[in-house]
Amino acid sequence: MILEITGEDKMKEFGHKLGLLFDSGAVIELIGDVGSGKTTLVKGIATGLGIQDNIQSPSFTINRTYLGRDDLKLSHYDFYRLIDAGLMSDELAETINDSKTITIIEWGGIISDILPADRLSIKINTLTEDSRQLEIIAGGQSSTVILEKI
Ligand code: ADP
Ligand code: MG
Repeated sequence: MILEITGEDKMKEFGHKLGLLFDSGAVIELIGDVGSGKTTLVKGIATGLGIQDNIQSPSFTINRTYLGRDDLKLSHYDFYRLIDAGLMSDELAETINDSKTITIIEWGGIISDILPADRLSIKINTLTEDSRQLEIIAGGQSSTVILEKI
């Protein structure tokens, strides 16, 4: 699926709609340059998961976890400029397998071998200062169910 989204608010709105679709664990990989809007999208997904906290980029801490509605959790990872994921890859493997956790990963290149095929991959291309193209791919059964509802 390909979408064009103009403006930060619309990106958050789209994320919110996407966040509403989850009722169990899932994995979302976000691909795009610095400033493309990955973290902005996560902020929207978080509100759709019923999370009130202000989502901050987890750079330096690598992972932040938030509690949402219906016992769901959001675990947000950012591996930007990390060369060795170390123990973080074990932690990531755990959250990926948690049936109540929506795991979202920015800059997942170094841990790509851990990512399940059944994930939503969202590639964000910067078109202009305000406009972004989103290319969304589902790699398996449960991610396809979500993609079909978008
Ligand atoms: P990333 O996590 O990919 O580095 P951020 O979400 O932190 O990106 O930052 C995206 C920046 O781009 C923000 O300053 C935001 O205001 C701006 N922006 C402009 N248009 C959009 C859009 N359509 N979607 C998302 N962000 C946008
Ligand atoms: Mg970011």
